[in-house]
Amino acid sequence: MPSNGLHILVTNDDGVQAPGLLALKNGLLDLGEVTVLAPLRNWSASGHVKTMHKPLRVEEVMLADGTAALATDGAPSDAVALAFLGIVERKIDLVVAGINRGPNLGHDLTYSGTVTAAMEGTLSGAPSIAFSLASYSLEDFSAAAGFAERLVCTTWQHGLPANTLLNVNIPALPADEIKGVLVTRTGDRIYRDELIRRTDPRGTPYYWIGGPPPEGREDQGTDIWAVANGYISVTPIQLDLTAHSFLPTVEGWELTLDQD
Ligand code: MN
Repeated sequence: MPSNGLHILVTNDDGVQAPGLLALKNGLLDLGEVTVLAPLRNWSASGHVKTMHKPLRVEEVMLADGTAALATDGAPSDAVALAFLGIVERKIDLVVAGINRGPNLGHDLTYSGTVTAAMEGTLSGAPSIAFSLASYSLEDFSAAAGFAERLVCTTWQHGLPANTLLNVNIPALPADEIKGVLVTRTGDRIYRDELIRRTDPRGTPYYWIGGPPPEGREDQGTDIWAVANGYISVTPIQLDLTAHSFLPTVEGWELTLDQD
């Protein structure tokens, strides 16, 4: 199939009305048909969710440019599952999530609603890509959307192996200041979470997980280094979380059912 006849599912975790989703959708229109099915509200840092204990609703909403989209009260990964399970009738060729407001680097990946939405697409059998802009304030998604169109096209031409997806982070720079594209591995995030303890009007304590934004070890070759140094980072990631290098060690424990 030529890349201008694709059917692309677009979702996100910032909510269906987030400007990054609209920029992504409009950036992909030249490649074919784009269907939006995204959460109604912000689900950032919700991780990989499968809602099983309450019903899910899907409604039609209008985006800021007057076009129609589908929205659900479920999580980003629910939105992708709903699409593949029959809410979207036309066969979905690719799943594209984003453009997230804020980076998804290193250990952020399992927290990320953006990345886990793409993971759900991978589980559903479609090549899937997560896009994040490394800024919480920049309103200009044009550089990110332009790169998304090119990468989606290239990914469709080459395909992705089973259980493999792409996680993309774009530095918060104008297009002509981005230095290039690096294929990276995930780096080490350094979280600086702090417990914020407060008391409700009835005297019961409640808590926020607060603190400053995470930092990261800027090791060359990592996603964190690439974005910090002005490059777009493309990280191939896989659903296999097995620690292969540690397998022989655990085998060496010679675990048995016997007590001693
Ligand atoms: Mn988000």
